[in-house]
Amino acid sequence: AKNEGRNCFKYFSEELTRAARERIGIEFRLRQAIENNEFRVFYQPQLAIGSGEIIGAEALIRWQTAGGELIPPLKFIPIAEETGLISNIGNWVLKEACRQGKEWLDAGLPRIRIAVNLSTHQFLHSDICAIVANTLAETGFPADYLELELTESALMKREKEAIDILNRLHELGTHLAIDDFGTGYSSLAYLKSFPLDILKIDKSFIDDIPMQNDDMEITATIIAMAKTLRMQVIAEGVETPAQMAFLSSRNCDFYQGYFASKPLPADEFAAFLRQHVPD
Ligand code: C2E
Ligand code: CA
Ligand code: CA
Ligand code: CA
Repeated sequence: AKNEGRNCFKYFSEELTRAARERIGIEFRLRQAIENNEFRVFYQPQLAIGSGEIIGAEALIRWQTAGGELIPPLKFIPIAEETGLISNIGNWVLKEACRQGKEWLDAGLPRIRIAVNLSTHQFLHSDICAIVANTLAETGFPADYLELELTESALMKREKEAIDILNRLHELGTHLAIDDFGTGYSSLAYLKSFPLDILKIDKSFIDDIPMQNDDMEITATIIAMAKTLRMQVIAEGVETPAQMAFLSSRNCDFYQGYFASKPLPADEFAAFLRQHVPD
């Protein structure tokens, strides 16, 4: 048994070293990736549950290395966040999404909102209001079409400061969404003090509908309470007709998920937007 323990430890420390090495490698390559333009933005449609109309798109970053390797965001966003590199990367995504949105508006495509993720670091450690204002001015994208997605942790870190920033982003004319709702520690009562327009129900609550009664009850409660706070609700990670039927029965406003489409490269998303006829 002693030996087993030792093997276990050896295995564990090798794993740690491997993980640490991978991290350092990714941090190094991230710095190069910014300079070498290895990032792209994909767009995932958001649809109205009643009409099937496309009402928006979430901008999601993709990293394709020079060697052709595709690195998923969950592998590098946390590292970018810890090293502060996220501000450069996030500001680039914001600008690219606004540039693309303006191009689609000018091309006469159906007018939709584009949602951009703001990390905690971007939100609290940079002058995000000036950055957003400058980006809108530079790209000519109207503020009314820009939605900013924030997480509970970004809002909870420094509450007063967060509310102040949200108010200023509102004054610019942007829409504000809370992302991954239900995965943090904030209650809906707490949410009341923040000027937010849209609530995104985390995918983890949607996944096991209709098998899990608890998840259905939580989802229904979140929808009802968000409505009381006059927020619109988007369900994330919707994949099946049964999930759609349930969300529709509870008057959820919008959905996003593989049921409609995976995130798409810009040209494929534009084609989807052109072809999509509401049911
Ligand atoms: P998120 O903001 O919650 O984005 C939704 C994620 O769920 C996306 O993963 C999307 O592809 C995935 N998804 C959507 N519908 C479905 C579905 O029906 N089934 C399944 N299995 N997955 C679905 P993705 O693109 O891999 O992004 C992961 C996370 O990385 C994002 O989660 C977000 O936290 C972060 N991220 C991505 N782009 C950015 C960015 O530009 N800035 C920041 N700060 N974070 C980003
Ligand atoms: Ca998001
Ligand atoms: Ca989310
Ligand atoms: Ca998520």
